[in-house]
Amino acid sequence: MNAVIPVSEETGFDVVIVGAGIGAHSVALSLPSTLRIAMISQDAVQTSSHWAKGGIAAESCLSEIDAHLEDTLAAGARLNDRDQVHRLVSGAPEAIRFLVELGVVFEPTLEREGGHQSARIWHADGDATGLAVMRVLGARRAASLNITSTTARLVQLVTDGDCVQGALVEQQGSLVLLKARSVVLATGGATGLWSDHTSPDGNIGTGMVAAYRVGATLGDLEFTQFHPTAIALTGSPLPLATEALRGAGAWIVDAEGKRFLFASDPAGELATRDKVSLAMHRHQGMSFLDVEPIGPAALAKRFPSFLEACRRYGHDPFANGPVPIRPAAHYSIGGIVAGPHGETNIQGLYAVGECANSGVHGANRLASNSLLEGLVFGRRAAAHIKDRPTLRQRLRYPSTLALSPRAPSRAAISAIVDVGLGVERDHPTLQRSQAALEALVSNEMNPYFASELQSARELVAMTIQAATLRRGTIGSHTRSDAITENPNYRIEFNQSQPPRRVERQS
Ligand SMILES: Cc1cc2nc3c(=O)[nH]c(=O)nc-3n(C[C@H](O)[C@H](O)[C@H](O)COP(=O)(O)OP(=O)(O)OC[C@H]3O[C@@H](n4cnc5c(N)ncnc54)[C@H](O)[C@@H]3O)c2cc1C
Repeated sequence: MNAVIPVSEETGFDVVIVGAGIGAHSVALSLPSTLRIAMISQDAVQTSSHWAKGGIAAESCLSEIDAHLEDTLAAGARLNDRDQVHRLVSGAPEAIRFLVELGVVFEPTLEREGGHQSARIWHADGDATGLAVMRVLGARRAASLNITSTTARLVQLVTDGDCVQGALVEQQGSLVLLKARSVVLATGGATGLWSDHTSPDGNIGTGMVAAYRVGATLGDLEFTQFHPTAIALTGSPLPLATEALRGAGAWIVDAEGKRFLFASDPAGELATRDKVSLAMHRHQGMSFLDVEPIGPAALAKRFPSFLEACRRYGHDPFANGPVPIRPAAHYSIGGIVAGPHGETNIQGLYAVGECANSGVHGANRLASNSLLEGLVFGRRAAAHIKDRPTLRQRLRYPSTLALSPRAPSRAAISAIVDVGLGVERDHPTLQRSQAALEALVSNEMNPYFASELQSARELVAMTIQAATLRRGTIGSHTRSDAITENPNYRIEFNQSQPPRRVERQS
């Protein structure tokens, strides 16, 4: 039987932002201070944004952006939306200025990473860029009197059919209605659905499914980026050995100490993540990161978090030798289809950052373009939101919500994801995974947890469908039974119709 939960009403806001990472903060801090903003998140300090290591890709001046555009398209196997990529790379210098003006102190030298033709990665505090940036953004947000920050979990969005009206959130066991004329989803990705992941455990795509359930379109779900150098010394979330280590000279070797990546790509360690992950997946035996070529002094100076992560798990990369690594789910390329200002097909509903499918990443994200995406499109969304009309009062808001207290366990869902949606996929395994998902046994639990797990199952079902429908290999989606096809389409999910292939515009 469903649990019927009463809804208590909170004062209205101009904007509700769900999330506390770089996307959410970029919107909140770019909106006029006259707007009343509610920023809610299930966790405000352990976000992917805080954990970001390598940095932010940005050319210093507009005359250099063509190379950044080209690298982004090449990494994305040219399935990117070119216009959106142009917005991304041309917004990059201004995004860096925005951070510097807020107080972020970047290191004077720019770095180079895999997939980038030149050194254009801005970093701060060695390899703890995300934390350095988020500390500044968090302090600015805390000092902004118009922003109310609360720990709460999004349960459902409220619309009047075609226009967003607010959000229902769980706050300390109660269900609270936050009315707003604009709602921004900045809920991050869904990589926590895989057993091996680098993101916080809470990133299971709840925001994406909430948007889908009110009529928003999801796209590109088959594209999940696996990071090749997750440190395999512990359970998930696996600590990350940043891409910049390979840029600085680290090697990927096998148990015999042999570099094996050149057999599949002449760029070797500097190939893009999809290629490196696939080569590691196909290579027999374990893989290791050898940081000897960087040397102890440079490693300690430039990569202190990496060193600390290894030592925390009892491994000194010089005394004990190369560090065991394996690919782990790292970044959701697919998500809520969003336009030039993060707008979705539901009026007043925006999606920015990793939960969005803005089209900038194509079939595979270029390293260090993600923090940038949150910044650029977060600021663009803010510019759009500030001009929106005031809230159209809905006749009736929900006074109760019925939630089913039954769902399958998270471990059972992840086991299916691991098998069906790994680095390499094939039709029979995808079919078996879909059947296994449908056959999952549900157990009784707290209705809020159950609602999250039901949402996870729904997203996994769509992702398996998307991976089944894309029968060719491209970017981060590798099919061992690939056919040759024109890949230039996006698979879209909207609850009003069956999944469909939409030809890409640019
Ligand atoms: C270890 C690691 C290293 C990385 N390094 C880099 C890098 O160097 N450069 C780069 O460009 N990118 C990097 N990335 C990717 C990048 O960090 C993320 O893609 C980006 O930070 C996402 O920002 P976001 O604001 O969209 O979401 P996040 O930072 O993931 O924040 C999501 C927020 O939403 C909240 N949330 C989620 N669901 C709900 C819900 N139902 N209710 C309420 N709140 C919810 C979360 O608690 C969180 O506050 C890295 C990622 C990881 C995991």
